[in-house]
Amino acid sequence: MHSQQVTPEPPSNDRAEHDVRADVPGAAGSPASGADRPPLRFDVIIAGCGPTGATLAAELRLHDVRVLVLEKETEPASFVRIVGLHIRSLELMAMRGLLDRMLQHGRRRPAGGFFAAIPKPAPQSLDSAYAYLLGIPQPVIEQLLEEHAIALGAQVRRGRAVAGFEQDDDGVTVELADGERLRSRYLVGCDGARSTVRKLLGVGFPGEPARTETLMGEMEVGVPQEEIAAKTAGIRETPHRFWLRPFGGGIYSVVVPAAGVTDRAEPPTLEDFKRQLRAIAGTDFGVHSPRWMSRFGDATRLAERYRVGRVLLAGDAAHIHPPIGGQGLNLGVQDAFNLGWKLAAQIRGWAPETLLDTYQAERHPVAEDVLDNTRAQMELLSTEPGPRAVRRLLTELMDFDEVNRHLIEKITAIGVRYDFGEGPDLLGRRLPDIDVRQGHLYGLLHRGRGLLLDRTERLTAGGWSDRVDHLADPTADLDVPCVLLRPDGHVAWIGDDQQDLDDHLTRWFGKPADRAGL
Ligand SMILES: Cc1cc2nc3c(=O)[nH]c(=O)nc-3n(C[C@H](O)[C@H](O)[C@H](O)COP(=O)(O)OP(=O)(O)OC[C@H]3O[C@@H](n4cnc5c(N)ncnc54)[C@H](O)[C@@H]3O)c2cc1C
Repeated sequence: MHSQQVTPEPPSNDRAEHDVRADVPGAAGSPASGADRPPLRFDVIIAGCGPTGATLAAELRLHDVRVLVLEKETEPASFVRIVGLHIRSLELMAMRGLLDRMLQHGRRRPAGGFFAAIPKPAPQSLDSAYAYLLGIPQPVIEQLLEEHAIALGAQVRRGRAVAGFEQDDDGVTVELADGERLRSRYLVGCDGARSTVRKLLGVGFPGEPARTETLMGEMEVGVPQEEIAAKTAGIRETPHRFWLRPFGGGIYSVVVPAAGVTDRAEPPTLEDFKRQLRAIAGTDFGVHSPRWMSRFGDATRLAERYRVGRVLLAGDAAHIHPPIGGQGLNLGVQDAFNLGWKLAAQIRGWAPETLLDTYQAERHPVAEDVLDNTRAQMELLSTEPGPRAVRRLLTELMDFDEVNRHLIEKITAIGVRYDFGEGPDLLGRRLPDIDVRQGHLYGLLHRGRGLLLDRTERLTAGGWSDRVDHLADPTADLDVPCVLLRPDGHVAWIGDDQQDLDDHLTRWFGKPADRAGL
């Protein structure tokens, strides 16, 4: 054991070691004997520093949780495999003050045209201040998220793979590939589609295996647009999974089947693209100067459970699907925003008993819906006559604003509504970045706390002021008297009655400080 290598915890941590003993129903793994256990130096160990792990680390650090991220790779990934950040993720970045940095490294693109690549513009009045797609390479997103987490005090150790763990009533002992053992209160597997944590937990990952593999990339072409248009129009009539379409700035998005490109372990090369293009179109269109090239399958799977005792799953570790519509990274980042404050509350000792389990209750159905929409989109990309007829019909239907809006809200995740029980439509939805007296609402959410937004100016969240901010603002651009926002920006309560508010503050934020013994 090498636990003496553990670096000191961040000085901001202010909790006693004995601050919480959570219930761990169904805890898996055989308890290590107390004498055997390494010292408890971390509250949460996160396996994997991809976009999900880095986001979760930052969210936890907003609440002074001691976080260690263990990343198998020694260097950050350099391959690109993303179209961009969709509206809800951009809103979340704005909520934490990260959006300006992201904007410096990306390009704004229209929000429409992503559902099954059906080229319909987004409806004019999408209800968001960030109604665009931000085209930004995944390595850049990962770097910015990791830097943010580290700046907030998270420790990230690279070249350290999680190889095993066992959990008991008090925590989790994590074993690294090099034999080192570390201990934390919770472990979160953000370790991607082939998640070691998920496999060791024995959580089922049902779904469909990959049936087809596809190459996808962005590159320049060496022939005029008219020549491409003439060739590609004919090819769409033949049964190939193929497109070559302008993406702006002289760049083309290229999709070709991966059949015959055999080395799955290696990223595809420009020559692979050229060969596939020649096989389909008889010409490689002079493609050159690739911005990125990638390969994906259409495996679609969803973890049966997101939590077993003190071990949780998030991001691709919990769900995989084809990248059509560009939702995977976005979904993982949104998982992390949902989980972060709940896990922090559990560790800080103020979480209501069932709060942590709402993570699975809320996010599992969202992932189910994303998996379903990607299945539908893959069908709509087929060149078989039946799916092509359905595609033509859907293309017509998308001329109805409501249909187009519904699909865009699905892909961009601004249509997500969690089930918080009976109530107005806004209950359970995210609140857009409305105008408030101080400027924009999201500017008030950087610290990841709850917010009581009160137009009546007569309510109070006083007993919860260590967890919930209060903004009394009759000018707030709301058409209800008052809302209680969770740290992830979802509306947890709407009303104007103090007793009802207190009940909901207790439901989401636990007992008031004087009764919680905090
Ligand atoms: C071609 C392609 C295009 C895509 N386009 C988009 C898009 O436009 N939009 C979108 O939202 N998504 C897109 N995706 C999906 C997106 O890339 C993933 O959903 C996203 O990377 C998931 O993030 P994650 O952090 O959950 O997992 P990952 O990014 O897989 O990160 C997991 C991390 O865990 C590490 N790890 C693994 N095992 C261990 C271990 N045992 N111990 C420690 N660390 C470990 C890995 O090294 C890795 O760094 C695309 C995917 C592909 C293939």
